[in-house]
Amino acid sequence: MAISRQIKGSIDQSSWIRKMFEEGVRLKKRDGDRNVFDFSLGNPDLEPPALFSELLQKAVNDTAAGRHGYMPNAGYPETREAVAGYLSAEHQVSMSMNEVVMTCGAGGALNVVLKTLLEPGDEVIISVPYFVEYLFYVGNHGGRSVPVKTGKDFSLDLPGIASAISSRTKCLILNSPHNPTGRIYDRESVSGLGELLERKSKELGTIIYLISDEPYGKIVYDGKRVPSVYQAYRQSIICSSYSKELSIPGERIGYVAVNPKAEPLCDLTEGLVFCNRTLGFVNAPALMQRVVKHLQGVCVDVDAYRRRRDLLCHNLASFGYRFVKPEGAFYLFPETPIDDVAFVRALQEKNILTVPGRGFGAPGFFRIAYCVEEDVIERSLEGFRQVAERYMRVE
Ligand code: PLP
Repeated sequence: MAISRQIKGSIDQSSWIRKMFEEGVRLKKRDGDRNVFDFSLGNPDLEPPALFSELLQKAVNDTAAGRHGYMPNAGYPETREAVAGYLSAEHQVSMSMNEVVMTCGAGGALNVVLKTLLEPGDEVIISVPYFVEYLFYVGNHGGRSVPVKTGKDFSLDLPGIASAISSRTKCLILNSPHNPTGRIYDRESVSGLGELLERKSKELGTIIYLISDEPYGKIVYDGKRVPSVYQAYRQSIICSSYSKELSIPGERIGYVAVNPKAEPLCDLTEGLVFCNRTLGFVNAPALMQRVVKHLQGVCVDVDAYRRRRDLLCHNLASFGYRFVKPEGAFYLFPETPIDDVAFVRALQEKNILTVPGRGFGAPGFFRIAYCVEEDVIERSLEGFRQVAERYMRVE
């Protein structure tokens, strides 16, 4: 075999979203774009805020010397300062640019953190259902993923996490708002998690880090807020990006921000900068760093996603679908009354593309990414209804 067996295996294992995407291309060719309802990808359809385009234009027109050169591997100091200032206010901490490393999106941030922390064979706890890339990110750096199921309403199972922790546990990845369920973990569970990690770290004589993956941090509904992990636990690290809040996932810009109280702080931040460089990212894109510096706290119109959530939830519930109403992000994760792959195939026959739950470690569910125009949702409803009529038992 010409390519690594491990990579070949991973490609086959990770192909659900890709399969659905390819299916979409085939159906769109056959029936026309308008007649295919593609809920497979978490690619935001909203355009970036007007201010983003203005600032980008300005940055492009700035022809001062050195604008396109190498920079410190952690990123431009003024961008890191802007991020640190914003996070200090958000989390009620005193943060400096030294704790911030600009990265190639949240995906780049997670890889940099895991590379910095993991020894070969170290364990990383992840909640099920999970964002499937976590398995590969952990594997990239010699770690072992330890999946722990969430509760019936996708809440954190703290006793389950406690029994999954071993002397090899290096960190836990928390994702809130959550892909694929839309859950936001409440303050009690996040502080409970902090207490648990503190207690277990003491018992085992190690440090168990909490990595908070927050690219959907601003996509929240009904006045909800994402509780601060810094307030809940000292040994916490935030990985985030502008991909979803500014609708710019193709631009690959995000950051790692270490809790200023984490230890050993200097080793951690030096490790992150080294890994950002040696994983080959070198530094996050220069142009984007110059733009997002001015966009701290700016977000797309979350109400547009809220309206789509409500439209879907209201109608799907009336057809008999069962789900936990999302509190954030732009995913809905309903139960399937039959095998999830068979159910997704039934929807596909109505030209509705979704992803089976097993793609997230959770068979028996399917994911709808509702970052699509309202009109697409409206026109898909009849298909959802017909499939429900065939398979759902309305009680
Ligand atoms: N984490 C989660 C939970 C995601 O859903 C995504 C992207 O969909 C990422 C991380 C990666 O985000 P980025 O595009 O900023 O790398």
